[in-house]
Amino acid sequence: MKKPSELEEEYFARIEFEKKKKIEEEKHKQLAEQEKKRLQELHYMRCPKCGMELIEIDYKHIKVDKCSECDGIWLDPGELETVSKLEKSGMDKLFGVFKK
Ligand SMILES: [Zn+2]
Repeated sequence: MKKPSELEEEYFARIEFEKKKKIEEEKHKQLAEQEKKRLQELHYMRCPKCGMELIEIDYKHIKVDKCSECDGIWLDPGELETVSKLEKSGMDKLFGVFKK
């Protein structure tokens, strides 16, 4: 059997540990958020393939991002579906914007 004072010490040590653990977990969460924000800022309007700037054009409310370096073309969510519903001539016009 442990003495009551020992039990009390154990109890407070555990409370202290839980408290410190929570603070650390909160720090980790904030770090993850900061890292996410940093990456978003770093990659915003950059080509996912080569990292160079994207040039955005707006054609019939479809925003198409074209890479200034590798000529890759990137679409926002739902835009591939919209493009696929264009008539062939509409699609030719859209991609004609980028013709050199
Ligand atoms: Zn690129």
